[in-house]
Amino acid sequence: MKIVCVGRNYVAHARELGNEVPTDPVIFIKPETSLLPNGSSFSIPQFSNEIHYECELVLRIAKRAQAIAKKDAASYYDAITAGIDFTARDLQQQLKEKGLPWEKAKAFDGAAVLGVWMSADRFRNKRDIHFCLYKNKAIVQQASTSQMIFDFDMLLSHISQYFTLEPGDLVFTGTPAGVGPVEPGDVLEGFVEDDSAFELSIQ
Ligand code: ZN
Repeated sequence: MKIVCVGRNYVAHARELGNEVPTDPVIFIKPETSLLPNGSSFSIPQFSNEIHYECELVLRIAKRAQAIAKKDAASYYDAITAGIDFTARDLQQQLKEKGLPWEKAKAFDGAAVLGVWMSADRFRNKRDIHFCLYKNKAIVQQASTSQMIFDFDMLLSHISQYFTLEPGDLVFTGTPAGVGPVEPGDVLEGFVEDDSAFELSIQ
């Protein structure tokens, strides 16, 4: 199982980190070991002093997808949730400055958090799904898929030109503006529409 992640898929988020708005999706992969086990709290790793939350919608792949067309993409995922793409921002910045791969900042143990799955059929308009993140009961991220640069179908088509997607693979579809740091004692809660997807405490 693999986790494919999309970077800079919301204009306001690309700008808040001083990045260019991409003309092609920015893609990276996290290994299965980066999944935080269900029900666990997140422990801040020793190697970073600046762990950021990035709340994202996540798709669960339902069938093998290899070089699929945009028009067929909707049939290749069956469930949606919200999750967190934890990022060691200090380490990522150092790696980016040196032009090095940023996996150490993104793919570490526990860096991928998943909420409870919701059937994809439930969402009639995939181009306007609202989601948000609360930190300590205050809203910090809020967006709709209508603000994505590359929508779900474009992403799955693009990703599958390079990597075959298999049942159970996950696609993190990018974070909107409002990313920020976490510290021990914080509680993050993610929602898709009006439903709580996860509640996570930070240690
Ligand atoms: Zn992300």
